[in-house]
Amino acid sequence: MNSKLIDFSRFSSIKIGGSLDVFILEEASEYDKDYYLIGACNNTLIGTQPPPLMILSKKYDYIKIEENLLKIGAATPSGKIASFCKKHDIANFEFVSHLPGTLGGLVKMNAGLKEYEIFNNLISVSTCVASCSEEMPLGFDGVKKREEINFGYRFTDIQTPILKATFTLSHGFDRDKVELFKKMRLNQPNMPSAGSCFKNPVGDYAGRLIEAVGLKGYRVGGMEFSEMHANFLVNADNGSFDDAIFLIQEAQKRVYEQFGIWLENEIIVLDTRYMDKSSPLINPHVKA
Ligand SMILES: Cc1cc2nc3c(=O)[nH]c(=O)nc-3n(C[C@H](O)[C@H](O)[C@H](O)COP(=O)(O)OP(=O)(O)OC[C@H]3O[C@@H](n4cnc5c(N)ncnc54)[C@H](O)[C@@H]3O)c2cc1C
Repeated sequence: MNSKLIDFSRFSSIKIGGSLDVFILEEASEYDKDYYLIGACNNTLIGTQPPPLMILSKKYDYIKIEENLLKIGAATPSGKIASFCKKHDIANFEFVSHLPGTLGGLVKMNAGLKEYEIFNNLISVSTCVASCSEEMPLGFDGVKKREEINFGYRFTDIQTPILKATFTLSHGFDRDKVELFKKMRLNQPNMPSAGSCFKNPVGDYAGRLIEAVGLKGYRVGGMEFSEMHANFLVNADNGSFDDAIFLIQEAQKRVYEQFGIWLENEIIVLDTRYMDKSSPLINPHVKA
């Protein structure tokens, strides 16, 4: 079992976390469900008490056209996907040029910009189920078709590592769309962050609610709800995990008290104290 040391204060987009030994997943048969799989940590906040972590090996970093379909390994960075689609005049992936991450992270999160989401052109995913067969029906081969997956806004019910995904292939790379996505980014801060901190509640915007409770531009230690876009929790000056958690919980508390709305994290918090959904630390409906 190979591993590598990753300094998360450099690796993660929010620039928080210590140096940790991360197990490298080479073969599906090595999968151990006690390890938490990371992609490129663009949506992830690593805590001071993280679970054991694993990352896909480089052999899952590929993109190819086969049988008139687009097949992409789950460790492939979004920038590589965008360049490949531009070079081969492929349509519908223009939005990934402005979405940092790996294919696995994009699929797991059903990442997207407005109505453009990674699931729009997805046919199937291959997941790593070889060694977690207790939870899978007998004969399950790890391939899940789009219609077998429960997915929605920044959500899928995929519980095991994605190794690759297959997409429909349409021609016609659209440069105008790339420009459109670039413009959509103009109201977002250029500081280290993990993207949107909270999911937008139905019919409302997390940024509006954060601003309404007086937290836009509010700073604790080195972390801040951005002055430019309140739903971006930015690392303005060497911020820590504790600063970030304080602000996340403060926003949830204030918005809940004032509007009765519980802001659900879009950021994935990787710290054992905050990963149990029934914990009173993260769910106001549970009594301490
Ligand atoms: C500046 C900025 C802007 C952003 N804007 C957007 C946006 O507009 N829209 C949007 O949707 N997102 C946005 N994001 C978030 C981020 O781009 C996406 O969530 C992306 O999908 C994260 O990919 P990752 O590889 O970094 O995943 P990670 O952050 O490493 O992991 C995210 C989740 O995916 C899971 N995961 C990772 N790889 C796999 C795999 N192979 N199999 C199964 N599960 C896996 C992890 O377990 C974790 O639960 C933004 C982030 C930043 C930093």
